[in-house]
Amino acid sequence: MKQIAPNVYKLSGIPPNAINIYLAGDVLIDAGTRIARARILRQTADRPLSLLALTHAHPDHQGAAKAVCEARNIPLACHADDVDAIEGRRPIQEASPQHPVNRIIAKIWTGPDCTVDRVLNDGDAVGDFTVIHAPGHQRGSVIFFRESDRVAICGDVIRNVNFFTGLPKLAEPPDIFTLDKAQNRSSIRRLAELHPSVVCPGHGPPLRDPDKLKAFAAAL
Ligand SMILES: [Zn+2]
Repeated sequence: MKQIAPNVYKLSGIPPNAINIYLAGDVLIDAGTRIARARILRQTADRPLSLLALTHAHPDHQGAAKAVCEARNIPLACHADDVDAIEGRRPIQEASPQHPVNRIIAKIWTGPDCTVDRVLNDGDAVGDFTVIHAPGHQRGSVIFFRESDRVAICGDVIRNVNFFTGLPKLAEPPDIFTLDKAQNRSSIRRLAELHPSVVCPGHGPPLRDPDKLKAFAAAL
């Protein structure tokens, strides 16, 4: 894994930066797809873990959640508005569920339902990060923000990759995965207003350019 900021690491993956999983202190943030179990357990084997916290309930973030929580005997946390999706009372992928891409993802990436042990709300502390509710892409999307050095782990509020070329590019999450595009744009503006020294997205490499983020948000 690679260090992004003090006590913040990004797990290695193939291809790099495709589906990001972070370790913030002893909190694992996101769990990749269902097939990420071995990748996570191997890379965190010698690290203490106290919690798995999800940025949002989508198959590429909750996939290995149940398996990892059981293997490491740690609780699972997500935002209050995503508890129903994680526990199986509403679909994980509510936006465009019949789109061919989402039908494939549902089959191969989605992990089993899992009990949420800790319900997160705006303003809660997770380790030395604060939970910021940033809905739109998913109901319970959150940003984990560390005020002291302005590190933002933002899930899919924004991405920093072109999915066709694999090259870094700041962009909104694709429409087929996003529940409410206008609401997500508000969340992107909220992220930009935090003036993060580094943005750690769910997809793509970290972005260390708050002015570029601010310009992107302003142009939406
Ligand atoms: Zn994602």
